Amino acid sequence: MKDHPIFLKPWGGIRAQDWHDWKWQFNNSLAAPAHWAGGINGSASQHKGLLAVTEIYPFRVTPYYLALMDSSDQADPLRRQCFPDLQEIHFSLGGVDDPLEEWRDMPVPGLIHRYADRCLIMATNVCAMYCRHCNRKRLWGGSQSGGTQAHLQPMIAYIRQRKEIREVIISGGDPLTLSDRALARMLESLRAIEHVEVLRIGSRIPVVMPMRITPALCKMLRKYRPLWFNTQFNHPREITPDAARACEMLLEAGIPVSNQSVLLRGVNDSYEVMRDLLYGLQRISVRPYYLFQCDPVRGTDHFRVDLRQGLEIMEKLWCNVSGLCMPRYVVDLPGGRGKLPLQPFSCVENDALVKSLFSPLLPGGDEGEGIPDEVVKVEVSTFF
Ligand code: SF4
Repeated sequence: MKDHPIFLKPWGGIRAQDWHDWKWQFNNSLAAPAHWAGGINGSASQHKGLLAVTEIYPFRVTPYYLALMDSSDQADPLRRQCFPDLQEIHFSLGGVDDPLEEWRDMPVPGLIHRYADRCLIMATNVCAMYCRHCNRKRLWGGSQSGGTQAHLQPMIAYIRQRKEIREVIISGGDPLTLSDRALARMLESLRAIEHVEVLRIGSRIPVVMPMRITPALCKMLRKYRPLWFNTQFNHPREITPDAARACEMLLEAGIPVSNQSVLLRGVNDSYEVMRDLLYGLQRISVRPYYLFQCDPVRGTDHFRVDLRQGLEIMEKLWCNVSGLCMPRYVVDLPGGRGKLPLQPFSCVENDALVKSLFSPLLPGGDEGEGIPDEVVKVEVSTFF
């Protein structure tokens, strides 16, 4: 834990056992602007501006995550993910609250059914940390909801009637902010539906509050396998011994852990940072699954990376990094039209080499005659 006296002041003298207790971390999360304003470089008017941001998009960060960052450096990639930024309310930059139009595919409150064979339930609207780039930031700040029978029952009733749903994704907010008991109740109800074969939890908890992954939680979760777990590491510095242990505990409980990063300007928009992140994930046996293009959500424009830059990073990764480390780079098409995988065009610029790779596979001879130009342009990175 780094020493940040200003920020750790509210918790001065805490015992190690408290620090490692997720309830202590959750209950002592920083949410009150008064706690952090004094520690941020900047003028009084800047502080006032930041308070205005939090009135629209609340602030919340765990002491654990706070201790990982250099909070005095405004460009710190971890700080950028959790500290308010005036650019969030520069709405003239564009973006909409719900670019994926999730409301269109919401037959009952809190349940999104977009793809026939799976649906997503928003188990709660509470998170341990409010990530500034979140594509559901429109839901923050309302009254807390989720985890109750009244919230759950209509969703369960819908899933029960739709026999084509074989996988249910439990998301949020962050479902692991619920108690073990509330979570077990939810999993139990879903597991009791015969046609639901697979459950999946989407949670950033291993990254922002890894002490939530307790032996008791893992023991409970393993009862509901096949259960998959997706998390969101965005920067190599987030892969700490605590985070690694949390993932290992899930893996030891028979729960595969995958990672869905978001490509974020000033956080991971370089080949070197992304490479180190992917290597780090592989070291802790977490599968790099998706790299998401940041959605055009209102209040996140300053995080968005040009698609061409994203493709350049992917191309360099394809050429240099083990295939086991490679995520799929995808963009969620606005309007709820689904995920589109993006591939670098080629990591071999030499046409002759491309032809020599393809010619044994196609009629036309060793010279590659008859191979249409578009084939030469096709990405050949799958060969590496
Ligand atoms: S934990 Fe997930 S849902 Fe919550 S703010 Fe972060 S990205 Fe959004």
